[in-house]
Amino acid sequence: MSSEQTVTVGVLALQGAFHEHIQRFMSLNALSATPSVRALAVRRPEQLEQCDALVIPGGESTAIALGMRRGDLVEPVHAWIASGRPIWGTCAGMILLARVATGGKRGGQELLGGVDIQVGRNGFGSQVNSFEAGVTFPALGAEPFTGVFIRAPVVDALLPDAGTVSVPQEGGINVSSANDSQDGTRPPLEILGWIDEDAMPSAPAGAAAPVWTANHSRPATPVLGPRPALDAQIVAVRQGNALVTSFHPELTGDTRLHAYFVNMALETM
Ligand code: GLN
Repeated sequence: MSSEQTVTVGVLALQGAFHEHIQRFMSLNALSATPSVRALAVRRPEQLEQCDALVIPGGESTAIALGMRRGDLVEPVHAWIASGRPIWGTCAGMILLARVATGGKRGGQELLGGVDIQVGRNGFGSQVNSFEAGVTFPALGAEPFTGVFIRAPVVDALLPDAGTVSVPQEGGINVSSANDSQDGTRPPLEILGWIDEDAMPSAPAGAAAPVWTANHSRPATPVLGPRPALDAQIVAVRQGNALVTSFHPELTGDTRLHAYFVNMALETM
């Protein structure tokens, strides 16, 4: 890497917390350890050509999907994912990058796929159940990452051996066929971050208890990386160059995850 190298990160800027992501990426430029970073608000397909990596922010996954459809961005982003270029979905972005999502409106949600997981929309409860929790994230060091969870999706299952998933696209279940692999060549899943049971918050006063869904349907193989305890809640997963986090790292001052993603981009350049 030459010292002048610039990484351009596109942030899909149709709806949601894109501005905060852009600020976090730009703030990396004050740190000497990272390369020069440019963050670009992406609204049109041709802007993707300028990008080395792409973020789908948190917000409302249905609204983002609709905006992508209207802006002719669905197919270009599919092609982006298929080509193995780095992509990171946070919260609503995680839902869009999941292979299967439950809890959506009937037929109401287009998924991009990219990561072989099944997520439940709003699985941690409603807005009043929003919370912060220390996320164990070994790739970022020993210090837990403060995860901000706002109507966040829950990872209900890892689907590394999914092959072709045939779930009817009705009853609030949406499935992306983008990851269908005839020859079993999907990259392995890597569990990157989780909330240990003792770090899970109790419900705020007056609010209903969050609905915690332990990820018990964990396959034995081929999942890379350290294994959290079975009662831990998985909140960050990587598969090849696709990264998903159920929380909002752009809403904290901790830029370790943004730096991690810039490094993912650098490795592909
Ligand atoms: N619950 C939202 C959805 O379904 C995601 C919330 C968020 O991104 N903070 O899209």
